[in-house]
Amino acid sequence: MSKDNINKTAVPLLDVNRGNRLLRDEILQSIAEVVDSGRFLHGPQVGELECTVAGICETPHAIACASGSDALLLALMALDIQQGDEVIVPSFTFFATASAVSRLGAIPVFVDIDPLTYNMSPEAVEANVTSRTKALIPVHLFGQCAAMDQLNAIAQKHNLPVIEDAAQAIGAAYLGKPAGAWGDIGCLSFYPTKNLGGMGDGGMMVCHDADMAAKLRLLASHGMQPRYHHKLVGINSRLDTIQAAVLNVKIAHLQEYSDARQKNANRYAELFQAEGLTRWIELPHHAPEALHVWNQYGIRVPDGLRDAMRKHLSEMNIGNEVYYPVPLHLQECFRDLGYFDGCLPHTEAASREILHLPIYPELSEHEQDMVVAGIKRFYASATLRRAA
Ligand SMILES: *Cc1c(COP(=O)(O)O)cnc(C)c1O
Repeated sequence: MSKDNINKTAVPLLDVNRGNRLLRDEILQSIAEVVDSGRFLHGPQVGELECTVAGICETPHAIACASGSDALLLALMALDIQQGDEVIVPSFTFFATASAVSRLGAIPVFVDIDPLTYNMSPEAVEANVTSRTKALIPVHLFGQCAAMDQLNAIAQKHNLPVIEDAAQAIGAAYLGKPAGAWGDIGCLSFYPTKNLGGMGDGGMMVCHDADMAAKLRLLASHGMQPRYHHKLVGINSRLDTIQAAVLNVKIAHLQEYSDARQKNANRYAELFQAEGLTRWIELPHHAPEALHVWNQYGIRVPDGLRDAMRKHLSEMNIGNEVYYPVPLHLQECFRDLGYFDGCLPHTEAASREILHLPIYPELSEHEQDMVVAGIKRFYASATLRRAA
């Protein structure tokens, strides 16, 4: 790349092609095998992926399904969550965590987060358990596990099942135990932007209990067993064999991807400190108990400057994003639940202040330097403006 181009070069927020390109021949070969076999559903590649994921999550069972959203829905169905039941969820998460609850006629009970890790606060959970509470769904947000030891203790005390939303956290761990292995059911997503991204939608559920595994599998295939005999009202949620074939190639590299994300996160921290920017921005907090897999890298931009910084970086063609600008308790579709601005202060502050930066494994050092330089320039001009 010539020097003249540097200023025009965009730093993408994410570029899935960089990783996939390196595996292109292997992936195409793997897809070709499925094409030639004609086994587009229930091919052996699906079972192979389930085995590998079960190994990573250290659970005896893994059941593939069509998406992370379906994994959450199927988990709630397997736990017999029904109309009017309450399920405790964070508000600071992707929509699917709560919509799965609503789709069964149950009520998502939104609780606040720990302001450092952004994960569901155990104290807030405890304070919101009622006689109608039927389950908890902690989310391992941005690739860092929630405080699962404390959350499991609360669940145990109240005899509640736990569904882990580990969509952003495959390969993460807490106190040495993998994401997905802590709860009754762990839910994973292979959406292309996740740490293990497919070439389309895909998901998986992991669990310890054999009966639970059988029920999840049954529910994911119309509750049908044997053919045309329906034990339960299930849904159709399968992982295509072609997706499994792609993921079997990519999963061999998952550890490398996680290591690279971790390296990028550490390097951001060094650069931000070296440039003196930590007087202005707050770096993401990494809990000592957590093995963080950095699905996202979010800095905290206080003083109401987040949106101005966002605009500044976008003008410089530096990829950035806000996850999530509107917390779920303030979404229009949940208005009937009666939450209002001010209900969950840590969640609302996080939605206003966090800005996400490129962190994908193939991000180059030069690109990372540009991101940091962009932020430095933002504060230089903001300081000048204030002095003027
Ligand atoms: C991506 C995601 C989901 C949904 O996964 P899909 O595979 O896109 O359906 C659920 N929860 C969280 C926290 C996610 O990030």
